Amino acid sequence: MVTCYLGLGSNLGNKKKNILLAVKYLQKSKGIKVEKVSRLYENPPCGCPAGSPDFLNGAAKIRTSFAPLALLKELKNIETCLGRKRAKRFSPRTIDIDILFYANKKVTLPNLKIPHPRLKMRDFVLAPLKEVSPEIIKKLASEVKIIKDIPAMRAFLAHARSKNMSIGFVPTMGYLHEGHLSLIRRGKKENVICVVSIFVNPLQFGPEEDFKKYPRDIERDSIKAQSAGCDVIFAPEAKQMYPNSFFTYVDVEKLTGTLCGVSRPGHFKGVATVVNKLFNIIQPSVAYFGQKDYQQALVIKTMARNLNMPLKISVMPTIRETDGLAMSSRNTYLNPAERAQAAVLYQSLGQARKKILSGEKSSKKVISGIRKVILNKKPAGIDYIAVVDADTLENKDMIQGKSLIALAVWFGKTRLIDNILV
Ligand code: AMP
Repeated sequence: MVTCYLGLGSNLGNKKKNILLAVKYLQKSKGIKVEKVSRLYENPPCGCPAGSPDFLNGAAKIRTSFAPLALLKELKNIETCLGRKRAKRFSPRTIDIDILFYANKKVTLPNLKIPHPRLKMRDFVLAPLKEVSPEIIKKLASEVKIIKDIPAMRAFLAHARSKNMSIGFVPTMGYLHEGHLSLIRRGKKENVICVVSIFVNPLQFGPEEDFKKYPRDIERDSIKAQSAGCDVIFAPEAKQMYPNSFFTYVDVEKLTGTLCGVSRPGHFKGVATVVNKLFNIIQPSVAYFGQKDYQQALVIKTMARNLNMPLKISVMPTIRETDGLAMSSRNTYLNPAERAQAAVLYQSLGQARKKILSGEKSSKKVISGIRKVILNKKPAGIDYIAVVDADTLENKDMIQGKSLIALAVWFGKTRLIDNILV
């Protein structure tokens, strides 16, 4: 008998019942002994078409006497018994049972790959797997180097620099999602080394903001970052980044006095300062930012140009959930009702884009259209909706040239931002 880990999922019919029945079938199987089953987690559908129902997911630790292919066959039998119809990929299913690990074995067959090739980038696998085997999660997390110390980080990259290797850099505050991973994948594709920083920067949070409750999970982040191609994580302590005698700040004027800068005074000063410090420590060839935080990316681009920083800033498209909500670590704060409401942000921007493409030029009309669509969902409040010049962030009365439509809206106690370029 060998130890094996399974992922269980259902998004059709009575999901909980389906998974519990699957566990019963596993227990009844002659070649399987179920040792541990995780709690069940509700998850948004991943890779499925828009409108697909949410999944319920769990993980199980089993002992089995089946060889890998025989185990696969047994699991498929159980899926069939539970009414799984093999329709198109990503279509809803009563039950899905995946082999995540089979002892320490690596299997690469056309119909079976073990360890499961996508498990590291999937929260719906990692969270229940951690419950049945914290050791596996620890081991996976240890596969990427984490450096906390500034001199050690410099020393690690000195070798790469001496060999003229290009360094891609993705600064983040962690709790990584597909948006971050898209930057890391690009960073690795375009460079020899990809460095990811994870630092919840106290300097960019206001006194009433969510610094303390910002989600943090370095183990989970390490696994996900590595799966996307990260070679090393820089995760400094605040004490080292901001020692007692810290008196120097970077303030990018003008661009920061509008949009998010109005309701978050000091935020961009905190961002520019930390990014400047990180650039000095890592000295990357290219740094990657997301369009989701358009104003931030523009501030950083301007800082790098104004201060003659020898690197390229690359801005990547916003990655969205299937219903259009821009991915954000802060989405984890939303309760199910707020999460459903929040999809309205991108819907309202999409409708605005359509209006503009069919000839609307008045910013006032576009903004009031967006406001109407959003208010329909009764959010807790609208911070701003603005149409601005994409380079200067100055308000525009008429939509001509490259324009940014940006908004910030409160759902419960969570403030979400989004934007589109037109
Ligand atoms: P954060 O961890 O929120 O500070 O974000 C780190 C980087 O990831 C920033 O450059 C963000 O703009 C970028 N980012 C965050 N969310 C997304 C997203 N949904 N799509 C693309 N990039 C994103």
